[in-house]
Amino acid sequence: MKFHILTLFPEMILQGLRPGIIGRAAEKGIISLNAVNIRDYTEERHGKVDDYPYGGGAGMLLQAQPVYVAHRAVTGGRRVRTIYMTPQGVPLTQKTVRELAGEEELIFLCGHYEGIDERVLEEIVTDSISIGDYVLTGGELAAMVVIDAVSRLVPGVLGNEDSPEEESFFNDLLEYPQYSRPESWHGKSVPAVLLSGNHREVAAWRLEEARKRTALRRPDLYERYQETQRLIRQLSKDKRNNIHMMESLARGKGEILYADAGNGMKNAAIYDGSCRTAMLTAGDAGSGRRLAELLPAETERVLVSQAFLEEILEEKQYRPSCRYRQVLYPQRTVLPVKHKDIRRLGMESYEYVCARYCDGTGDAGRQGEARRTGVNRQYVKERILAGAVYGIFVEEEPVGFGGYHADGGLGMLYLEENSRRKGLGTSLEAYIINRMLERGWIPYGHVEADNMPAMGLQEKLGLYFAAKTYCRMEKTLANEGQVC
Ligand code: SAM
Repeated sequence: MKFHILTLFPEMILQGLRPGIIGRAAEKGIISLNAVNIRDYTEERHGKVDDYPYGGGAGMLLQAQPVYVAHRAVTGGRRVRTIYMTPQGVPLTQKTVRELAGEEELIFLCGHYEGIDERVLEEIVTDSISIGDYVLTGGELAAMVVIDAVSRLVPGVLGNEDSPEEESFFNDLLEYPQYSRPESWHGKSVPAVLLSGNHREVAAWRLEEARKRTALRRPDLYERYQETQRLIRQLSKDKRNNIHMMESLARGKGEILYADAGNGMKNAAIYDGSCRTAMLTAGDAGSGRRLAELLPAETERVLVSQAFLEEILEEKQYRPSCRYRQVLYPQRTVLPVKHKDIRRLGMESYEYVCARYCDGTGDAGRQGEARRTGVNRQYVKERILAGAVYGIFVEEEPVGFGGYHADGGLGMLYLEENSRRKGLGTSLEAYIINRMLERGWIPYGHVEADNMPAMGLQEKLGLYFAAKTYCRMEKTLANEGQVC
């Protein structure tokens, strides 16, 4: 993720962000920080960048020319999302943070004095963000707040994918209370359940505490949480077909664009901004058309199970890329794993995974994407950094891998030709399912409808199949036809 910051005080940005986690991520090259001094781009001989506002009034304004030229120097004419930090912007929330974390490059514009000449804002700014209803002297602190919050969601920055998903605002709940050593301090003991070693009871206690705390401190958030839980309950009436939507909501990734819970759950549209994936289900074509209108412009793929939705989406330049069956493992019991040498993969395995996943032998459904856009190497990197890829080893040599996708389904499964039909695939998938269970998820995945060995593996592991066949519709790029 690249951050460019247009500012009059580049050293403030660099000094503010270099220490600690964000600085280390920059050193490792996971993010980059490019602080650009607007003053370097002024055409004024004395380096002046501000002037009086027309019509009078207090203070000075940053002029359009240096801001515009500094911006052009970064973009070189490319379209890059440009955020003006301003008290007049949209208030920052974790949802916006999550959405921004899906970008590869962002420009922040920091104002000073009384602000910036409106004409340049009209030309370069795509988003305006405020960090609260108060006025700062400049946009630097505000930009740093956003960069910090976004960076920690970039895979690899925290080094542990679990943490952001258990923090406040994940899933509209504030975080539960936390305790560290000693067990007793000032006569106050750590709640006994946290010392029990029983993961399920700990998880249940934490959820309950998070609920209580949110209801008390943030009733507005709690109302939204309850709405989501109501929809999950509705969707669970047809769990096998709806598990992708349920899990997207339950894991705090999906946002409800529409749901008519009162109408027997015939129409629903859910959007996961982190992977630009939408999930639609509609009772009839008219409703489907209305749901399709709600898709954010940046939606890259849509998962549907009704033929009329495919037709509607084709009109909107989406093309079928893969047909698959949805499978799920609704039990809570951990699966036996016979082959023991399975480990989470790090970047040292990047080339190994890329060579197999991106050459068409890996998760075939996603290969269309790779062939069309060449993004799969990036995707592999993102998944490895997210800690979502596991390798299976025989005598210290890797013989395959698997994991879970950005949209939440398990997949990416690959085994070397000479390691197939030996039970290794069963062990690998069982291991990944167990990791998902540990996180309180309901494991589910998508299997290509005509991939018989993969279907057999799911049955052997005791996964259930959805009755419907699903279609992944991908936004068509110029000069591209159907991909699989
Ligand atoms: N005159 C401006 C107004 O009333 O909207 C405020 C200008 S403020 C003194 C100078 C700069 O600080 C702004 O251009 C903006 O970049 C930044 N800033 C101030 N408060 C902010 C906030 N709450 N959120 C984000 N940026 C802020």
